[in-house]
Amino acid sequence: MPPAGAADKKTEILEIDARNLQTDLVERAGQVIRDGGTCAFPTETVYGLGADGLNPDAVRKIFEAKGRPGDNPLILHIAYPEQIALLTTELTENARAMAEAFWPGPLTLVVRRSGIVPDTVSAGLETVAVRCPSHPVAHALILQADTPIAAPSANLSGSPSPTSGEHVVRDLDGRVDMILVSDDSQIGVESTVVDTTKVPPVILRPGRITKEDLEAVVGEVRLSEGITSGAEPEHPASPGMKYTHYSPRAEVYLTDGTDEETERAIRKACEDADGTIAILTTGPVTEKLRDDMIVLSLGDDPEQYEHNLFSELRRLDDLGADRIFVRMPAAGDRTLAVRDRLMHAAGYRFLPKDE
Ligand code: AMP
Ligand code: MG
Repeated sequence: MPPAGAADKKTEILEIDARNLQTDLVERAGQVIRDGGTCAFPTETVYGLGADGLNPDAVRKIFEAKGRPGDNPLILHIAYPEQIALLTTELTENARAMAEAFWPGPLTLVVRRSGIVPDTVSAGLETVAVRCPSHPVAHALILQADTPIAAPSANLSGSPSPTSGEHVVRDLDGRVDMILVSDDSQIGVESTVVDTTKVPPVILRPGRITKEDLEAVVGEVRLSEGITSGAEPEHPASPGMKYTHYSPRAEVYLTDGTDEETERAIRKACEDADGTIAILTTGPVTEKLRDDMIVLSLGDDPEQYEHNLFSELRRLDDLGADRIFVRMPAAGDRTLAVRDRLMHAAGYRFLPKDE
């Protein structure tokens, strides 16, 4: 957690209309970034916490505000795809093809970094992660700042990513210079991260753009260890993967398997558990087994699960849940991202199968 006493900044909170940008507000936000300050802003994936990505002192403020470990590198956000040329010494044919197919959009490319990328951004790695977001506020802010913007998700390190301005204000008011509040994030989970320095390219973090989407453009793509195994990876391919992530205050437990298996596992766990229990379901709805139990659904398809996941985890904290039992969606290309975030949120904890 961030050091106590760090929340003493005067944070300016501005409401910005994504469909009809107020240029004076964008100019003020761009000035904050140019002056070396921190500004949270909406993107199509989740809200980001930005600073001038070429200014090491500014970048350091991001780590401080979030309480983020310094060895977890940041993503640089650019306004136009061509600007990646500035940040890398080598754009492979695969990287070029993926950028052309999916930018602007929810895809992050890991490439060899050029000399202008500060060590603080890439945490000393020889590579840097780059994304060109499609959200109009993000695009306008990067243009106005006139520099690549380094931005991780705009939450306190370890907690669920923010998908609304309200989430950001709750986590970062008093810790950053400015927060741009706009519409809720359309996608709801972070970008797909792919290491383009490897042949074939390797997905380090699954997201809305799936393995099959990428393979349609560049041929074979691999998944890094841990994404599919359902267990903590022994050698994390991406530094960020070794940290607790996306975790609500409540303890999260997962169930996987047929509808009957997950139903039985949850019933058994409910018998043994005290405190306020919540069930977070994908697909089949478990009936309330007790009056004080909370039952929430993530929706009807993988895109809805992604859209709702983080806001529902935060909602369950607000409702006072002590334990959350999750019915995971069946494994598949389009459910990888939501399963990955759930496994992190649960620290890979599964309910025992009740044989
Ligand atoms: P966040 O900014 O919190 O959305 O996380 C960015 C993710 O990208 C983290 O999992 C990082 O570890 C990962 N990442 C950023 N830069 C690199 C890099 N150069 N190589 C591998 N992974 C990276
Ligand atoms: Mg994050």
